[in-house]
Amino acid sequence: MLGAGMVGAGILAASGLLPAQSGSSSMHSVEIGDMDRKAQPCDNFYDFANGTWRANNPIPPSMSRWSRRWQAGEFAKDRLHEILEQVSAEKSTVKGSTDEIIGDYYGACMDESRVNARGMDPIKPWFAKIDGARDIAALQGVIAEMHDILVTAPFAMGSQQDPHKPEWVLADFGASGLSLPDRDYYLKPDARFKEAREKYVAHVTAMLKLAGWDAKSAAAGADTVMTMETKLAEASLDNVALRDPAATDHNMTFAQLEELAPHFHWAGYYKHRGLPTSVDMNVDQPKFMQEFDRQLQQTPLADWKVYLKWQLLNSTAGSLSAPFVEEDFAFNGAYLAGAKEMKPRWKRCVESTDQLLGEALGQKYVEKYFPPAAKARMQEMVRNLLLAMRDDILSRPWMSDDTKEKAMAKIATFNPKIGYPDKWKDYSHVEIRRDDFFASMIAGREFVEQDDRAQIGKPVDRGRWGMTPPTSDAYYNPLMNEIVFPAGILQPPAFDMNAVDAVNYGAIGVVIGHEISHGFDDQGAQFDFLGRLRDWWTDKDLKDFQTRAACVADQFDHYFIEEGVHHNGKLVLGESIGDLGGAKIAYRAYEKSLEGKPRPADVDGFTPEQQFFIAWGQFRGDAMRPEFQRLMVQSDPHPVSKFRVIGPLSNLPEFQKAFSCSADSPMVRPEGKRCEVW
Ligand SMILES: [Zn+2]
Repeated sequence: MLGAGMVGAGILAASGLLPAQSGSSSMHSVEIGDMDRKAQPCDNFYDFANGTWRANNPIPPSMSRWSRRWQAGEFAKDRLHEILEQVSAEKSTVKGSTDEIIGDYYGACMDESRVNARGMDPIKPWFAKIDGARDIAALQGVIAEMHDILVTAPFAMGSQQDPHKPEWVLADFGASGLSLPDRDYYLKPDARFKEAREKYVAHVTAMLKLAGWDAKSAAAGADTVMTMETKLAEASLDNVALRDPAATDHNMTFAQLEELAPHFHWAGYYKHRGLPTSVDMNVDQPKFMQEFDRQLQQTPLADWKVYLKWQLLNSTAGSLSAPFVEEDFAFNGAYLAGAKEMKPRWKRCVESTDQLLGEALGQKYVEKYFPPAAKARMQEMVRNLLLAMRDDILSRPWMSDDTKEKAMAKIATFNPKIGYPDKWKDYSHVEIRRDDFFASMIAGREFVEQDDRAQIGKPVDRGRWGMTPPTSDAYYNPLMNEIVFPAGILQPPAFDMNAVDAVNYGAIGVVIGHEISHGFDDQGAQFDFLGRLRDWWTDKDLKDFQTRAACVADQFDHYFIEEGVHHNGKLVLGESIGDLGGAKIAYRAYEKSLEGKPRPADVDGFTPEQQFFIAWGQFRGDAMRPEFQRLMVQSDPHPVSKFRVIGPLSNLPEFQKAFSCSADSPMVRPEGKRCEVW
């Protein structure tokens, strides 16, 4: 199933069996066979780079998007599968050992006949708790208990670095409690949202019926859920507003919180969660909390019970018997995201273990699959990319020396994390039961929740990771000013110990550049070198920066996925600035890495510069189902893959030059429309 040459060589290189020397003749370059040579690079670079691969590799039925990159992500799950099958079969009796915890968790999850035999029994005690609440005050206690197991309705409370004192962690209250992907799904009049609402009400009805309700009360229950969630949606910020850090920055005292939402018993909530009321806090969306408070006063107790039962069902459906799992997939996986069939159970169990016990499983993964040599090569690339970003900022003609100096301070404090955490989380007290998957899932959730809550009211722990080691992704955190690359993304096609530099700079290099550029995108630029939300720009520089960013927003506003549906430039602005800056500085870093060395060979007639850009197209070029594209355009700050390839490259004179494109080519944005931020 996996492309023979590339992935195979990667495994050998990653296990240290192949040499990893720059320029060695055994190094491979871009995948020539993936390219569509009938497409012209200056007209349709997306097809040119990866069209043949997409034509020959249709999206598997259980996936919503597909490319060599996602294939590699699924391949990592095969490795995790092997690890889990083995430890599960060994049945370690060492209580609290990593093997016992992940082996029993996975084993319990895989015992599908036992899970199916129990039907909805596991959530009956929770339903009984809700039914037992005699008044709204008693129901508030149940809400607090639901938060302990990550059923975060209608609001969520978790830890967050204080954006004004990032060395300190506060309690953060976020808006939550919606079950459709975002507020617009509840409120927009467009036909596709209207249809989604109808399908959603039918889905809630079906789930309530599975939970034993008769048809009439299930339908009435679904209407209640829709009414309450729609009111919460009206009081929620939309996705674009949420990207502005200032919009969710509301430090409050406990007394102010009580005043904001006086009908919730906050003292009781704090007590239940083991937090002193003196702890620093932030309320993301005060208006949302006021709507929550209004519903506490005006929505009947019976309706609240329906809403909370639905939230429980929706949150835990994947851990119940097959009918719940299937109905949940039919709406969320198939209707909303376009998948044609469910992933096999073993894969869902691998994903669940990764979500709840991620660093226990991750520790086993990196022992086997992440050699120190990979870390060393990544560190070198990150260093080169940071140098390229520094040179780039210093050469910006529109930026004053004052602002440049502050930007240099930020470059100097960038903290790269590569592979896996230095210190692993301690799971030894998590009570996993081989004979009870639901209870084990709840224990895993309690661990995740307590591990997060334990940070509140303390100095920040800079060693923590926001992704698990096998994750095929990367992130930038402005409050820590850190860029993080889990071991899972450090494999082909992103990163390959056995590939020429052009390929590594064009793939993982652009990803590194992208994460660095996030430090200077429309959000990241609002945080200073210590991670404080603070304006460090001169007025004129900030205006110039915003004008340049507006060019990118306008570019993406004009990218359509189908008739009438285009990207929202403001929603994808940060990611698009990241790609544009990332491609440019990765290219610079690649050029610099060639200095003083013999020029690398052309491959199949493609120059090293061309190989760099083709590598980006091959790494980033996913095929995506139309449903998934619609979902992304609405609620994801990332553009769809096609535009992440052609969007940034069509702004770069370096690309035009590499392929000798004429000025009026589709892949060359006209002078005056060309965007450059960094
Ligand atoms: Zn990003």
